[in-house]
Amino acid sequence: MTSMLLTPIAYLKGVGPQKAETLQQELGIFTFVDLLYHFPYRYQDRSTFHEISQISSEDHYVQLKGRFTHIGETGHNRNKKLHGRFTDGSGYIDLVWFQGVQWIKSKLNIQDEYIIFGKPKFYQNNWSIPHPEVLKVVKGMERKGFEAFYPSTEKCQHKGLGSKGLSKLIAALLDQISSQIQESLPHYLLENLNLMSLSKALLEIHQPSNEVNIKVAKYRLKFEELLVLQLELLLRKGVRDQKLKGFVLPEVGNHFNQFYQNHLPFELTNAQKRVIKEIRKDLATGRHMNRLLQGDVGSGKTLVALLSLLLAIGNNLQGALMAPTEILANQHFIGISELLAPMNLKVALLTGSTKKSERVLIHEGLLNGQIHLLIGTHALLEDTVQFKSLGLVVIDEQHRFGVAQRARMWRKNSLPPHVLIMTATPIPRTLAMTFYGDLDVSIIDELPPGRKPIQTIHRRENHRTKLFEFIYEQLKLGRQAYIVYPLIQESEKLDFKNLEDGFEQINEHFMSKGFQISMVHGKMKPADKEAQMQEFVKGHTHILVATTVIEVGVNVPNASVMVIESAERFGLSQLHQLRGRVGRGAEKSYCILMTGDGISKEAQKRMETMVSSNDGFVLAEVDLQLRGPGDLMGTQQSGALALKIADLARDGQIVQLARESAKAILEEDPTLIKEKNRLLNITMQSVLKDRPNWGRIS
Ligand code: ADP
Ligand code: MG
Repeated sequence: MTSMLLTPIAYLKGVGPQKAETLQQELGIFTFVDLLYHFPYRYQDRSTFHEISQISSEDHYVQLKGRFTHIGETGHNRNKKLHGRFTDGSGYIDLVWFQGVQWIKSKLNIQDEYIIFGKPKFYQNNWSIPHPEVLKVVKGMERKGFEAFYPSTEKCQHKGLGSKGLSKLIAALLDQISSQIQESLPHYLLENLNLMSLSKALLEIHQPSNEVNIKVAKYRLKFEELLVLQLELLLRKGVRDQKLKGFVLPEVGNHFNQFYQNHLPFELTNAQKRVIKEIRKDLATGRHMNRLLQGDVGSGKTLVALLSLLLAIGNNLQGALMAPTEILANQHFIGISELLAPMNLKVALLTGSTKKSERVLIHEGLLNGQIHLLIGTHALLEDTVQFKSLGLVVIDEQHRFGVAQRARMWRKNSLPPHVLIMTATPIPRTLAMTFYGDLDVSIIDELPPGRKPIQTIHRRENHRTKLFEFIYEQLKLGRQAYIVYPLIQESEKLDFKNLEDGFEQINEHFMSKGFQISMVHGKMKPADKEAQMQEFVKGHTHILVATTVIEVGVNVPNASVMVIESAERFGLSQLHQLRGRVGRGAEKSYCILMTGDGISKEAQKRMETMVSSNDGFVLAEVDLQLRGPGDLMGTQQSGALALKIADLARDGQIVQLARESAKAILEEDPTLIKEKNRLLNITMQSVLKDRPNWGRIS
C-alpha cells in the first residue's frame, strides 16, 4: 500500500476537520484507504427505463424518465398532500408525497426532465407511486449507468455525508489516487484464478460500467479478503505447531487398555474409533493439541472424551472435564464414576455448590495428584484450583464458554494442557474454516446403531387436547415426556408465569390419571433442581416440565416425547438440542413443536426445517442463512473479523477456494519468502501485526 493511501481523511478535498470527525466516529473512516474500502450495498441501473404504459403488478420497482405535467397540493394542514402528474410519453402516472410537501414542491419544476424510482401501486384504477425517489436529469449524467448506494448514518446525512455525499467524495478520491493503487495479489494468482486487478476492481465497485463487472470486481475483493484471512489462520497455526510444545503422551497406558478391553459399555461406532485414533496420534507427537470435536446430539462424544482422558491418566497426568451447567456436570460425574467404578481411579466433582470443606479436600487431592480426574463447571476455572500436572482438558458444549474463560485453563500448568473442545451444535463448514481455521477438527458423523429417527411434528394451539391425549397414550405405554417452555429473557416474571400456568394445566390433566410431574426452572436452588431431575431420571415422575435448563446433556433413554412450547421463540440449534433429549432409547420418539398461529416467516421456516431434517449439519447451514454469522458465533467474535465485503453466509464457495489457495501457497512457500509471493508477504506482515489473535480459543 502506498503511503498516499494512509493520508488522514481530513486532507481529502471536500472533507476538512469537521466532516473528518463525523466520518471517523460514524463510519470508522480515518484514512483514504478506509474510504476507498467503504463499499456500496446496492446499485441502481440508471441507464434503462420502464415505460409507464407497460407497468404491471409484476414490477416491484420501476424507473421512469419524463416530465411533470402538473404539480399541486391537495388537502389541508395534516392531510396535505403533494400530487404530481408525470408522463414519459407512453402514459401517465401519479406521484404522491404525504410528507415534506413544501420542500419537495420547491425542488420540482415543470420544465425539467426527471428520473423517477419507486414502487408502483395500483389504486382506484390508476398507477401511482408514493414517495418516489426523484432525480433531476442534468447534461452528461446519462453516461453514468449505475448509481452506487453507500451505507451511511443519520448523523452523516446531516453533515452532507449521506449516500450521495459519500459518492462524491469517493469519486474525488478515485480521481486523485486511482493511478497509484498497486496490485496486492501475486500475478500468478490473478492469472490462474482469472481475477480482476485491484485497481480495476476498486474502480468498478464504486463506478461500475456494467453489471458483470460489478460481480467480477466483488469476487476479486471478496477472494482477497478471505485469502488474507485464511493465510493468517494457517500462518498462526503453523507457528503454534512449531513453537508450542505440549505434554508428550507416548503410552496408550494401562487405564485406556483396561477400560477398552474390559469395561467398554458398547462397541464403539466407526466414527468414534476414528476420532479416538486422531486424538491418540495428536497426543503422541509432543505438539500441543487444540482440537474441536463436532458431533451431533447423541453421537457419543462423552465416551470419546472419557477415553481421551484415560490416555492422559495412563501417562501419569491428570484430566479435567468441564461442562456448562451444574446439572450436566453432575450427570457426567455420575455416569463416568459408574463406568470407572471397576478401575480404582479417583474422580472428583467440583461445582458452585460444592461445600467448602469438600472443596479444600479437592484442592489438596489435585495438588498431590491423588485425584486423577476432575469434573465440574466454571468452578474449575478459579485460580485456587491447581493441579499437580494437568494433561488434558475436555470442554463440553463449547459454545457456552467465552474465549476469555477458555484461555484461563492455560494458566494451570507450566506446559499448557491439551485441549479437546466438544460441541453438539455443528458449525457450518465455512464458519468452522474461518473461526476455527487454526484448530484441528474431528467429526463424529455417525449415530450409535439402533436409534430410531425422531418424528417431528409442528402443531398449533387448537391441537392442545389431541396433544394431551397423545402424551397420555405414551405414558400409558410406560414412557416419559418432557414439556419445555422458553426462557423469556426480557421478562423473568412472564417466563415464570407461562411455566406455572402450563404446569397447573398439565398437573390438572395428568395427576388425576395417576401420573407424577417434576418441574425444573432457573429460579430454583441447584439442590432442588437436582432432586426434581433425579425423580424424573429414576422414573418416579413421568413428565418433566422445564425451562431450557434441560437443553444440554440430560440423558433419560425412557423418555419418548419432547414437547416444545412457544417453539417459535427458539433458535434452530436450540430446538435441535432439545429434540436430542429423546430418541435415546429403543422406542420410537416424537418431538412436537407447539406454536401460535401468526408466526413470522422466519419462524415458519425454522419449524419446517425441523420437521424435514434430523441432521444437525443441515440445520446449521439453514441457521447460518437465516441468522448470519454474527448471531451464530457471537457478535464479538464475528465483529473481530471485520469483514468488509465477504459474507460468510453467502460466500461459502469463495471461502473454500481461499482456503485451498492459502494451503497451496503455504505448502510451497511456508513463510512466504519466495519472490513470487512478495506482495502477499507484505500484506500478511501488516495483518499479523495489527490484528488481535482472536482465533486462539484455548
Ligand atoms: P453426546 O454426543 O450428545 O454427548 P452422549 O455421549 O451423551 O452423546 O451419548 C448419547 C447416548 O449414546 C448415551 O446414552 C451413550 O451411552 C450412548 N452411546 C454412546 N456411544 C455409543 C455406542 N458406540 N453404541 C451405543 N450407544 C452409545
Ligand atoms: Mg454430551
